Amino acid sequence: MGIFRSLRVRLTLWYVLLLAIALAAFGAAIYLTLRYSLNEGLDDSVENRAELLSGLVEYSGGTPSLAGTISSNDLNADDTFVRVYGPSGGLSFEQAPPGTTIDDNTSSIERARSGGTSRSNLGTSAETYRVIAVPLMLDAEVTGVLEVGESTSDIDETLGRLLLILAVGYPITLVAASVGGVFLAGRALSPIDKITQAARRISAEDLGRRLDLDLPDDEVGRLARTFDDMIARLEDAFVRQRQFTSDASHELRTPLTAMKGQVEVALSKERPAADYRGVLQTVNQDIDRMIRLVGSLLTLARADAHQVALEREQIRLAELVNSAVAEVQQVASERGVTLVSKAGPDVGVMVDEDLMLQLLLNLLDNAIKYSGPAGHVECSWRSENGSVEMSVHDSGQGILANDLPHIFDRFYRADKSRAHDGGGAGLGLSISKWIAEAHGGDISVRSTPGSGTTFTVHLPAS
Ligand code: ADP
Repeated sequence: MGIFRSLRVRLTLWYVLLLAIALAAFGAAIYLTLRYSLNEGLDDSVENRAELLSGLVEYSGGTPSLAGTISSNDLNADDTFVRVYGPSGGLSFEQAPPGTTIDDNTSSIERARSGGTSRSNLGTSAETYRVIAVPLMLDAEVTGVLEVGESTSDIDETLGRLLLILAVGYPITLVAASVGGVFLAGRALSPIDKITQAARRISAEDLGRRLDLDLPDDEVGRLARTFDDMIARLEDAFVRQRQFTSDASHELRTPLTAMKGQVEVALSKERPAADYRGVLQTVNQDIDRMIRLVGSLLTLARADAHQVALEREQIRLAELVNSAVAEVQQVASERGVTLVSKAGPDVGVMVDEDLMLQLLLNLLDNAIKYSGPAGHVECSWRSENGSVEMSVHDSGQGILANDLPHIFDRFYRADKSRAHDGGGAGLGLSISKWIAEAHGGDISVRSTPGSGTTFTVHLPAS
């Protein structure tokens, strides 16, 4: 049913149900306790009266009686009766409220005649009496029975009044509590309605909007703020995604446009075979560039989708560094860059060899590229408490402080003019950062413009 989909209604119903149970238990406890203590009080009163009267019994010819010792004024005549029985069970004295006939209470009288005190309830057409029958004793012999009864009408009246109060008060309290419950639940939940309406207005195209609700720092307020934070992160991710797609398209379009231009020029008229070969070589270089770029994009896309499973194995760090250095040695020499590997401690690392090699190659490649003519590049490592630090230092022009915070961003190039002049697409460092983090480590950079740059990869103890 639709109405039960409202949290306000469900909360109120639960609250009223619990209150109904609690009130019923509370009312029952009050009623039963009061009835018990009133009955106890009446029993005490009947017993005291019987004790008092048994001291006043007089005998004439062996038959006990109260005639002559008490008058009807001595008794609370409206709601008390007294009867005295002789040793053979015959009634010898009776004092009862006027116009009332009290039934015989034979079994109680018989029990008292055999020496035991007996309590019972005795009903008449108009009233119920709480009755005690006690044996009258003389020289250790039962000489008769004294029976005293007191009406329960006062108790019945008090309990009846209490029942009436409870019966009327119970539903009134529940109705009042329901109204209050609906009101309070409504007040507490109304900010949630506001959040829902505001959230409905935010769509994927409109992530710049925020709830911006002025709510106190309670559960609902925190929900609204968490929601705003989440939208901010989503917006950020959306913007970066769009930027990434547009950068990637741009990077792919540039070599394609260049290739198309060259092919069109080549086809515009008959040319000697050597010209065609020259064009094909240039196109081939562009294709290589595109293959590298698409490879990098694929790596990042897989990394984002957590699709790359690391194949960790134990390898000597020296071997890893040396093979990376050996791979780029030739390029370094061609550019007149001195490349050295400074041996560190002989430690092993648990890494994915291919990925870690790719990371080192990215750093070394950059270092050689940006160290300038007659530059110097040094690769070193050290180990402390099982964790490892690898550094690639170059003596190049360094990175400006403005660029430093962005160089790990995708497609970021500090020197844009070099982009198509041997420089990459600006993805190398973002891939290196991902590789370091996938191994539980991190990568950092220190650079002084004019005197060189040092990249440091930190891998935690495995
Ligand atoms: P790219 O493929 O363009 O080198 P990277 O992500 O590897 O892309 O590097 C991003 C940018 O960081 C580079 O374009 C360059 O401007 C800067 N950079 C990286 N390494 C160095 C370095 N050793 N010295 C100076 N600048 C560097």
